[in-house]
Order: sequence, then C-alpha cells, then structure tokens
Amino acid sequence: MPSDLQSLHEKMRQWRQHLHRFPETAYEELETAKFIADRLTEFGLEVHQGFGRTGVVATLSAGTSGKKIALRADMDALFIEEQNTFAHKSRHAGKMHACGHDGHSAMLLGAASYLTEHQNFDGTVYFIFQPAEEGRAGARQMITDGLFEKFPADCVFGMHNFPDIPAGHFAVKSGPMMASFDCFEIVVTGDATHAAMPHLGNDAIVASAHIINALQTIVSRTINPADPAVVSITQIHAGNTWNAIPESVLLRGTYRCFETAVQKKIADKITQLVHAICGGHGVGSEIKFNPENPGYPVTFNAETETALALKAAIAVAGADCVNRQPIPSMGSEDFAFMLQKKPGCYIWIGNGSSENSCLLHNPHYDFNDGILPIGAAYWVKLVETILGKSLPG
Ligand SMILES: [Zn+2]
Ligand SMILES: [Zn+2]
Repeated sequence: MPSDLQSLHEKMRQWRQHLHRFPETAYEELETAKFIADRLTEFGLEVHQGFGRTGVVATLSAGTSGKKIALRADMDALFIEEQNTFAHKSRHAGKMHACGHDGHSAMLLGAASYLTEHQNFDGTVYFIFQPAEEGRAGARQMITDGLFEKFPADCVFGMHNFPDIPAGHFAVKSGPMMASFDCFEIVVTGDATHAAMPHLGNDAIVASAHIINALQTIVSRTINPADPAVVSITQIHAGNTWNAIPESVLLRGTYRCFETAVQKKIADKITQLVHAICGGHGVGSEIKFNPENPGYPVTFNAETETALALKAAIAVAGADCVNRQPIPSMGSEDFAFMLQKKPGCYIWIGNGSSENSCLLHNPHYDFNDGILPIGAAYWVKLVETILGKSLPG
C-alpha cells in the first residue's frame, strides 16, 4: 500500500466519523454532498453537484488517453435509531449510517485525494458519490439525469463493506453478486360480517391465508431448483376487533432472484395464484408491484472488469485475502442499474467480524475505520491497473 495512503488514514477517519455524526437519508443528503464537494474542490478537482438530485460527480484527467472509468460510492444513511454510545454516534434522531456508506464515501475521497496528487495514470476518472441507495434507486436517478452522457465512462466499479468478511479482505466473482429486488402489495376485499355468522359475508382473511401458503409454493414448484429465489410475505394488516370479520386484508412482501426471466416468472405466478384463489373464494383482489419504489435488477459483474478488479484486490491485499468464489447475496444493491448500462464490477471489502461486531442495518453497526486505507488503495490500484501508463491507451 502506498505510504501516502497510510498517511491519509487519519484524514479519512475524520471524514468518515464526521459523516457518521450527521447522517442524511435518501435525496436529503445536502450537507453530506456539500461536505464531499468541498473536499473534492480542495483537492483541485472539477466538481458537479445536484446530479441525481443530491449526487456529486468529480472528474480527474491525466495524460492523453481517451480511456475513462467511473468509481462509485454511496452516501445515504438509514432510518434507524443508533444504539452506539461512542463519540461519533449519530446526532440526527432516527437516522444512522448503519450500512457503512460513510466509510464508502471516505474511501473514495481518500482515493480522489491521492490520485489528484500523484496522477500516476493516463486517462479520465469519474468519482461518483451517489444518493439514495437504500431503497430509493439513486443510481437510477443519476442515470435518468444523464450520468453516462455527461460522464461517458467505459466501465464502472462499486465497493461495499461486508461485516462477515475478515477486515481488509476482498470477495468478488463474475456473474451475479447480488439478487434482484421487487416488492408487491395485495389487497383482498371481501364482505365484512359478524364473526359468528361468516356465511352472511365473504371472509378476506381465510382467502389471504390460502394466498400466503400458495405463494410459498412458487419457489418450490414453479422455479427451477437450480435457480436461487426467495418469496417472503412481510406484512399482514387486517381487522381491529375480536368478533367481526373485516372487509379487507392488506398483504405486502418481497421476492429476490438472480435471473430476469425468474423475476418475471415469480411476478406472473403471484398474479395467477392471487386472482385464482380470490376468484375461488368470491373475494376481490388487487396486486401492485413495486408500489412505492422501483425494484432493483440483479447486480451482475462483467468478466473482463471482474478480472481487473481481482488483479487490483490481490495487489493490495494479497491472493490469500481475496475470495474469488463468494456465495452471491440474496440482498440487493442499486449499483445494479449502473451495471445494466456499463460493464463493471462490484466488490465486497471485509469490515471484519469480532464478538461485538454486527451485521449491516443493525443499530449497533459501525464502519471499521481500520479498513479505510486498504479500501482507498484498492481504488487507486484499480485506476492504475486499468489506466496504466504502460498500457496502450
Ligand atoms: Zn444498506
Ligand atoms: Zn449499503
């Protein structure tokens, strides 16, 4: 690891802890964006703000090559009340950096600082600081705003910390890394009646019970057992007393998989089962897919870019600390939208696991400041690998 990056460690730690203290959620990352843009301007970079509403993009060119790559960090926080007690804990009630996006931003800032100073590459680097990763598709918003027209990168790279991986280790593979993500909402409407006289109404609750069970057969009976998929009902809302059958039931849930064709098959089967069951029970049904926010596609790593990412990860961490066959996660990531537009690679960096560490989105989570230099070193090495001066432009 370059010694200059080690010396940036303290600065990155301060930036990271500042962002942790003042977490901002989707599309409200105004102070976060300003803080990041101020640092990038201090480094001497050309900075563009307000992209994808609150996103920030900085451009750095060196040499004469026309090659261009984009590096992306996310910068939004979650609606979680922090339970930590350390000095840099969240000052914003009900909001917290529980997914480590504070660390992702700090690592990319560190890399931007180093690369601006050393310029040991030939080409253009776009530093993308993306808003609203958590369920609000900030990546898609940036693309809609013309991200890749204004910053025409040849390829795009993302990185996320992962608490279950040892600190500073990496894990990456080509093909699917994270699942697609879709939500659905079902309203079953019957006829309300006295609980003692069900025959005088039409019970939406009993019909819903059949729906819940039937949806669990989609993965086991409709999807090829070799294709991973999961369907979960996560909310049931109905009724408010003991002795009356309510008029309607609201069910909500989610499904995840690794293939667009499977994604469509699940949606079609949900529709078919719900309408058939409700028809049989004589109750009405309405289904909405992704009613509040867009679903996310599969996060799919391209082969060539994954090979380059592997090379950079091995160079900074050593071959023994890079897992080349991680099991893909059923979680999802809106970086997938960028990977639909440009070939690229999304890598996991270990946040480390100890007795006290916990998973992402946990109120006790904290990004591990110890991995800031190695994460920044990965970005630098990736740029130097792809835009290497000795390589043909
Ligand atoms: Zn998250
Ligand atoms: Zn995250």
